[in-house]
Amino acid sequence: MHHIGDYCGDAELVRRYIPRTRLAIFSLLLCLFVILSGGWLYSRYEPIQSAADCTSVETFDPTNSTCYYECETEEACARLAKQVDTELDAFFKNSQTKSNEQAGDGRPADSKNEVIFTNGNGILQPKPNNRQAALWALFQKIASNDISKQTVDTFSVFDDDQNATAAAVWRSEQPKKWHVTVNQAYDNEPKDLIHTLVHEYGHILTLSEDQVPSAVTGSCPTLSLQEGCAAQSAYITEFSKRYWQRYDKKAPKNDGEDQDEVQRFYNQNGKDQTFVSEYAATNLTEDMAESFASFVLQSKPSGTKTVDKKIAFYYEYPALVRERERIRTALAKELGSRQMLRTTR
Ligand SMILES: [Zn+2]
Repeated sequence: MHHIGDYCGDAELVRRYIPRTRLAIFSLLLCLFVILSGGWLYSRYEPIQSAADCTSVETFDPTNSTCYYECETEEACARLAKQVDTELDAFFKNSQTKSNEQAGDGRPADSKNEVIFTNGNGILQPKPNNRQAALWALFQKIASNDISKQTVDTFSVFDDDQNATAAAVWRSEQPKKWHVTVNQAYDNEPKDLIHTLVHEYGHILTLSEDQVPSAVTGSCPTLSLQEGCAAQSAYITEFSKRYWQRYDKKAPKNDGEDQDEVQRFYNQNGKDQTFVSEYAATNLTEDMAESFASFVLQSKPSGTKTVDKKIAFYYEYPALVRERERIRTALAKELGSRQMLRTTR
């Protein structure tokens, strides 16, 4: 018997759903970790009282007030995986990036009550409170433990419900590292907050130092960006060639600083047939990050519109497809443990 609603059970909710015997030891270790780490994450959620508290792939056990699911064979586990996949797509159907970030994803202009933490191998200093720690944990799930340990310079949390930015990232002076900021006013809007964090992670992946080296001598033969000169094999070099070179000087000026100009550009260039959102029309890097968020949070598009091609673009890179799987597995666990995946019961 396994529980999605119980944090100690969600080790079972892995993408491949390998039969549970093979996962028993891993589950045990995860439980131990959660117990040792204080279990505060789970303690925020409501107790399980009825079948309505279970996700659609679980069954309610009234004797123990728990939700459980089992899959004993590869086929049964694959069916379960598919169902969770469908639920994730449904959950993020209308989610969107919340951002008024200006070109280059700089620090939001007005970050009220901002607390800045330095990151030492995944441990924030000074010690964050529970709410701040939960946001850091969520970011780590999306960006992976390794990336967040190695590439985040500072993580900051601000609190401003009048601010349209849920999160932003920008490169640190140490070229391999990033500053990440999250608006805790959005922690009760998990759809858009997660969507925004996936978008920001898209920036980190596509504008990292190995993709866009900052130190280049002489002129840039590929694509000159605020972060540096894109490598020949960089995702963004190819994306630019396919989808942005055509605009040349017609693209919004100054990286899309003028909102009216962006809106006109969006309207004159195919709207939602070309861009996943109006925000994607801001500039090349926002288009990439917005398309990346749709790539991760939605199923693979089968259409032939430009917007479909931009999302399908990421499937050409096996490393990014693995990232997609990893993030979706992490989100299924996260949303399962918050009892938010239960749309088809
Ligand atoms: Zn962005």
